[in-house]
Amino acid sequence: MPKFRPAAKKKPRPRADHPLRLGRSMKAVPKLVPQGRRVSSEIGEIVRQRAQAEAAIADARKSHERLREAIDILPQGIVFLDADGRYILWNKKYAEIYNRSSDLFEPGARLQDTIRVGVERGDYPEAMGREDEWIAERVTKLFHPGQRHEQVLADGRVILIEERLTEDGGVIGLRVDITELKQREASFRLLFDANPVPMIVCALDDERVLSVNDAAVEHYGYTRAEFEKLTIRHLQAFESEPPWVGDHSSDEQAARTWKHVKADGSLIDLAIYSRHMTYGEQPAVMLALMDITERKRAEMRLAFMAHHDGLTGLPNRNLLRQRLDEILAHSRRNGEKVGVLFVGLDNFKGVNDTLGHGIGDKLLRGVARRLRSSLREEDAIARLNSDEFAIIQTGVSRPEEVVLLARRLLEAIGEPYLLDGHSVVIGASIGIAMAPGDGDDSERLLKNADMALSRAKNDSRGTFSFFEAGMDARAQSRRKIEIELRAAIQDDLLRPYYQPLIDLRTGRITGFEALVRWPHPERGMISPAEFIPVAEDTGLINALGTQILRRACMEAARWPDEVHVAVNLSPLQFRVGNLLSVVMDALKQSGLPPRRLELEITETLLLEKSTQVLATLHALRALGVRISMDDFGTGYSSLSYLRSFPFDKIKIDQSFVRDLGGNRDAQAIVRSIISLGIGLGVTITAEGVETEAELACLRAEGCHEAQGFLFSKARPNDEIIELLRAQVIADPDDEISVRAQVA
Ligand code: C2E
Ligand code: MG
Ligand code: MG
Repeated sequence: MPKFRPAAKKKPRPRADHPLRLGRSMKAVPKLVPQGRRVSSEIGEIVRQRAQAEAAIADARKSHERLREAIDILPQGIVFLDADGRYILWNKKYAEIYNRSSDLFEPGARLQDTIRVGVERGDYPEAMGREDEWIAERVTKLFHPGQRHEQVLADGRVILIEERLTEDGGVIGLRVDITELKQREASFRLLFDANPVPMIVCALDDERVLSVNDAAVEHYGYTRAEFEKLTIRHLQAFESEPPWVGDHSSDEQAARTWKHVKADGSLIDLAIYSRHMTYGEQPAVMLALMDITERKRAEMRLAFMAHHDGLTGLPNRNLLRQRLDEILAHSRRNGEKVGVLFVGLDNFKGVNDTLGHGIGDKLLRGVARRLRSSLREEDAIARLNSDEFAIIQTGVSRPEEVVLLARRLLEAIGEPYLLDGHSVVIGASIGIAMAPGDGDDSERLLKNADMALSRAKNDSRGTFSFFEAGMDARAQSRRKIEIELRAAIQDDLLRPYYQPLIDLRTGRITGFEALVRWPHPERGMISPAEFIPVAEDTGLINALGTQILRRACMEAARWPDEVHVAVNLSPLQFRVGNLLSVVMDALKQSGLPPRRLELEITETLLLEKSTQVLATLHALRALGVRISMDDFGTGYSSLSYLRSFPFDKIKIDQSFVRDLGGNRDAQAIVRSIISLGIGLGVTITAEGVETEAELACLRAEGCHEAQGFLFSKARPNDEIIELLRAQVIADPDDEISVRAQVA
């Protein structure tokens, strides 16, 4: 290796006290020449001394060699310089580090000179342009050591230099090649600085922010300077231990979620990964901060949606049930009562159909707001389905308190709503169940309140109704009817029976009203009054209505040509939208001329004032079909409906006919309906005529047509032909005999 071995070209400066120097200075011991006998004893002395000196030199050389061997195996470069900065000794590693400038140093050469040569050769890029200055600085550092410094070489290597003074004023220098370390540091820096994930390094002890990357600066909105004045706890929205504190303080941490505050005060949710490290010399923690605010928000939205109604934001049935369970448990402990109120909007579908779903939705939101603001904080509210809400009233001591709330709610809902320029009014009905009494668990209470609501709706809308024992049985029988009715429609078991309509001037049958009959295997003939409402509630009414219409047209087509058939239509059949084609099909298939078909509708159909309904009615009438208003006088504003559509017939409800006997008001009403009909050129038919007295009265008032048990109940089709034949045989002028024949 040798290219660096000391070659002793320069004059040594013997320093025998220093073994390292001794190695080289010994080479300079002069050779002595003996001069005569006189001095032979001196010579002997000199020879002895010389032998001693040579032995010492050999010793020193040996230890020098040993020292060299020792320092050669060190991984760092080592150099020894004397007080003038001249080379004394260096190891292999030192030579390796400076391999390009190796020929420059030799024992006795000054470091300063070798450096200058190196600078001139361009070995030290840092010196470029300020060579003298740089060399001066380097030499100053050499003799005022203590601090490490780094030196960059032309080939990019980085050398860490550490120098210490020896006791005799010389220098021991250490050289470590830190190129790889530097590269790793640089790539780490790059990973940190350019990482799109916000990262913060903070001190382990006082949690001071030591360094942040660009992403953190951008994300948090603090400048680097502001950051450096903060501790990690300043960023936290809530006081909590940082993830590295406590049990898991040593190793890399799995993500923990935290809430931080940004410079603008907004809150963010973070998943934080932390890792211990040293920053410079100090123990630190590096945090990678993943903003999961959006994810959290989405999770919360999902959780909210699972328990709330999207339209009104009110809790849904699930959440209500949970709340009710809690409230019941609480009320049992302190002996309070709980009221469960089911609020159902009356005719909400009408609003939806006539004003559109946009306004329907706004109305529901408006109702939800009013309901909520009518309640106390401790009460609970939920939206159960499209037009039903539930309210739980807590801390009730007497049922009267529930009544007061129910009234207040009905009043609040009933105030007009101004929606997109429309003034919308909607009524509601309320069903109430109380605990304890009407049920001890939430399931039963909700069910019973629901049943009470059905009752309130059936009785008369706009009221409230308490649950009563027995409602349950009724509800069950209703469900049974629904199942059996569905099967009966499926198997085409329903039949129209026909009740004759009598022309009071001629006494002859002008036509028949088709009234549906359900021959039930166990219960006999079931009245439509019992199953039509079920059919309407369940939507079965459309199939049922179509079947009866078809069959009535088929059967009537075989009757004499002048005899017409009247078929009842439910308002729900108008909602489906295909009524016109259903009627046209029935006429076409049966061959019945449209003028022989009469369709009976009730006032409830016109309650909704729907343009679609009116359009269908006009289209039906344009076919040649006649339209009658059934049960006239039972609705809210029967008279006004007469203006909305040109009816062909008005059927006076049987409740007025029933009262004709003694009640003067009823007589006056019937009289005015008849004169109204005459004025409008509309046929007036009286329903439910049972007695001669009623008939006489109606005839005296000039009523055109009558229907009732006095003439005949509804009969199956096969009896109709006979009925009509009997009528022909009888004297048409003798009404009494006609009645006798018909009845
Ligand atoms: P409605 O259309 O007003 O029919 C007249 C009802 O009065 C019939 O009851 C009939 O049997 C009954 N009635 C007739 N004369 C008398 C009488 O002198 N005294 C008494 N007390 N009652 C009499 P029904 O057959 O039970 O029908 C009840 C209601 O069911 C009908 O009232 C009608 O609204 C509905 N309905 C019947 N069939 C159908 C149908 O096919 N479709 C639809 N949508 N509704 C129907
Ligand atoms: Mg009718
Ligand atoms: Mg009627």
